[in-house]
Amino acid sequence: MRRPLSVPVIALLLAVSGFAQARPFNDPRSERSDPIDTDAKFAAEPRDPACYASVLASTGGEMPKNPHTLAIRWTGFSNFELVYNGQIMLLDAYFERGSNYPPLGFKPEDVKKADAILIGHGHHDHMSDAASVGARTGASVVAAPVTTEKLATQPIDPKQVRTVTGRGGEVLQFGAFKVEPILGMHGDPPATLVDAFDAALKRTTKPLTEAQLAELAVIRQRGTQDRRVRNEGTIAYLITLDNGFRIMYRDSGGRVTEFEKAAMERVGRVDVGLIAVSAAYLNTETVAQALEHVRTYKPDVYIPAHHDGAYNNLWRATEPLFQAVKDENPNTVTVSKGYREPVCFNTEHNISKAR
Ligand SMILES: [Zn+2]
Repeated sequence: MRRPLSVPVIALLLAVSGFAQARPFNDPRSERSDPIDTDAKFAAEPRDPACYASVLASTGGEMPKNPHTLAIRWTGFSNFELVYNGQIMLLDAYFERGSNYPPLGFKPEDVKKADAILIGHGHHDHMSDAASVGARTGASVVAAPVTTEKLATQPIDPKQVRTVTGRGGEVLQFGAFKVEPILGMHGDPPATLVDAFDAALKRTTKPLTEAQLAELAVIRQRGTQDRRVRNEGTIAYLITLDNGFRIMYRDSGGRVTEFEKAAMERVGRVDVGLIAVSAAYLNTETVAQALEHVRTYKPDVYIPAHHDGAYNNLWRATEPLFQAVKDENPNTVTVSKGYREPVCFNTEHNISKAR
């Protein structure tokens, strides 16, 4: 009878077979502490605070040291900060949310530096701080007609505001960022689902206080409820860096439009998709919508948006989307960070260069 190999013998065989020569890996703890790295040659290199500190560049944090590094931070709902090559771009601007929301860790007044603000659509939870942040920073604010009509009633210099329709042919350049607005469509989850979940949430959560309702009313009136938001007021943005690295930003989880399909037929794929999760509550529904987005943009890296929620609502689960996306394409990388936590990209490595 053969005896099983003992543990030391297995270890010896693995070592001899070259197992110990495996490439270094990324230990997730290396994001927070000094490199826990199997490759000693990086241990002496200082880490770039732009890629680990939870301070936005727009609120005084550092810019990436390497001009090819893109730092992306999510700041709740569909807000993102993109920092690249000394420039700051904000996607959506909804920072003051009131006491019924988890804190973002900064206030709109803290945002002091930005070169451009792209607004996906004009609902308050996407644009409510665009005017004040735009005015303070001097940033250009880009949005659909129904959104810029609202901005025209707010304290921001109209010369900073750029109206786009997303119907093709519009190209805006902000330093190393090329921005192409593309007409998208707002999310439209089934009313039967939304009504049922809203009723259940109402029965199981604390009602808002008078003070909270008043607070909410003030924030809400800094956005528009115009019906045009759905079909002609929701803009997706294709952002291309000077080296070809591509980002698709979509701030509402609606159906893909012919404009988006045409743009993607032209460029093929994107390196990063920053894509809002549908508000349809049920995973089967949110997954179906996410798959339509992913099949259209074909991102190397999928980063969800609009998935956090108020204290009397639910967060939209991202794991079911990640799993469905990977079941279709196991090579897709999914990333979901906390508020203000950066994720950094070496943009020199990108799809357009690989061709
Ligand atoms: Zn909306």
